[in-house]
Amino acid sequence: MEKTHPSHTKTVAVVGTGMAGLATAHLLHQDPQKRYQVTLIEKRDEISLSAESVQIPSQDPNGPSVWADVPMRAFAGGFYRNLVRMYDYLGVKYHEQPFLFSFTKLPKRQQSSSTTSCIPGPQMVYASNFHQIPPIPRTSDLIHWCVEAVYAVLCYLWFTFCCFFIAPYAENLQTGQLSETFDHYLRRVWVPQHYVANYLLPLISSVCTCSHQELLNFPASDVLEYKRRTHRQQHFVVSAGVQCVQPKLLEGVELRLGVNLTHVIPRHNGVQIKYSTEDGKHSSEYFDLVVLAVSPDVAASLFPAVNSQLSAIPTTTVETVAHTDESTIRPMLSATANPTSIKCSKELRGSYNLGTQRIHLLSNGTITEAVHEQSNSILVTTNPLFPLDKSKIIRSASFIRVLRSPLSRLLVNSIFQDRGEPKKLSESTSAVNSWRNGDNGVYLAGGWCWDGMVLLEGCIVSAMRVATDLGVAVPWDDMSS
Ligand SMILES: Cc1cc2nc3c(=O)[nH]c(=O)nc-3n(C[C@H](O)[C@H](O)[C@H](O)COP(=O)(O)OP(=O)(O)OC[C@H]3O[C@@H](n4cnc5c(N)ncnc54)[C@H](O)[C@@H]3O)c2cc1C
Repeated sequence: MEKTHPSHTKTVAVVGTGMAGLATAHLLHQDPQKRYQVTLIEKRDEISLSAESVQIPSQDPNGPSVWADVPMRAFAGGFYRNLVRMYDYLGVKYHEQPFLFSFTKLPKRQQSSSTTSCIPGPQMVYASNFHQIPPIPRTSDLIHWCVEAVYAVLCYLWFTFCCFFIAPYAENLQTGQLSETFDHYLRRVWVPQHYVANYLLPLISSVCTCSHQELLNFPASDVLEYKRRTHRQQHFVVSAGVQCVQPKLLEGVELRLGVNLTHVIPRHNGVQIKYSTEDGKHSSEYFDLVVLAVSPDVAASLFPAVNSQLSAIPTTTVETVAHTDESTIRPMLSATANPTSIKCSKELRGSYNLGTQRIHLLSNGTITEAVHEQSNSILVTTNPLFPLDKSKIIRSASFIRVLRSPLSRLLVNSIFQDRGEPKKLSESTSAVNSWRNGDNGVYLAGGWCWDGMVLLEGCIVSAMRVATDLGVAVPWDDMSS
């Protein structure tokens, strides 16, 4: 069955209910001139932004339950300028969230083992922004720990200095030279390998939730920019979890769940979308404009015009598990315990500075498992290296994570380049000269649709770009920062 819209206003299909799709739909729907009739389309039977979040009952029987965002939706001042403005505009409450990171290097013999019995204690503990003096892991001998701590601090200072004062090599389209990778940059500026392998890669790869090698392949500019902008800034989380952002962004927007898009075809009279619904029916419909707020691999499969540009964008699958199995972090819990507390791990948690959350990073030299302690003994493990007790698993989910490389950076930038800018020629990057955002009535939005690390800020920046391209004012742009 084919549907058409009788329209005075322009019809827009926004596909995807992650942060990018929700923000785009909200911006177009709130157009003061009411020029866009927005339909938000999602293949799942629920909004995806907080679909995997876990509701945690309050420890206080009369208190409200809290939400653990899965995956994590933390943000930091400096880097997340537009996300923070949007939250302020929507009246979303958020609070500072200090973190305490423990670093554990798994011994070689254990890297392929599935047992948790000989996981060592952490070699180092680090407090975000040095907000507190980190505890000395009880498993370390004091002299060894002091030497390691001084070494780690000196390397950190050197790396920070480099981020601010030694720029990465930029790309040169005339010669076909791509921008410098993080790996090349670290070697060029002589950041010591031991520090890179045991501290820098575990920490940053837990932000990007990818392997160490995948992170080393990132453009250096991404990581340096992230470090520069978040330097000495606080981390924040939405107090009631991102589930409270959804209704605010969705207000008044027509929503269709369980609609799996299969094709996007620009025609002379609009953009045709083809989709299947949960009852197995196949349908087709015309919209004036379509915004694909999906990952690049999905966009490439739906809309062949972008295939050559988007197929070079690396992605990976990330597993996140919410559970109560603390067997992998037991050594970290006791090694970093407050000296005045007693052995029971639940009490250990309670003994900490109330606001601080602990994140344990267990690295096997290739991948880092991150275990994030939430309230009420709930743990959220990303990239699990060890099997978890099935009876203690609350929820488990897989996510597509979009990665970065110098080539994908070039291609993404070419898609979002201003129309006024001349298209650039380079033999090795011919795809650069192809499709641009908005061509044929199709737009892209997503955490990956900007020149930076693939995080929530990219979702908001790309949603704002679609709105601006369509002449819609962004209400939080008027707000003072
Ligand atoms: C483990 C993990 C931890 C993270 N931690 C943080 C963090 O702390 N801070 C931070 O800023 N960022 C974090 N991120 C990154 C951030 O979550 C993502 O960048 C962001 O959620 C991407 O949102 P998006 O809207 O671009 O895409 P998505 O959230 O991927 O949304 C895409 C949507 O499109 C839908 N869709 C796909 N195909 C179709 C189709 N054919 N038809 C209809 N609908 C379709 C999907 O169901 C989904 O709803 C993390 C990511 C992961 C995986």
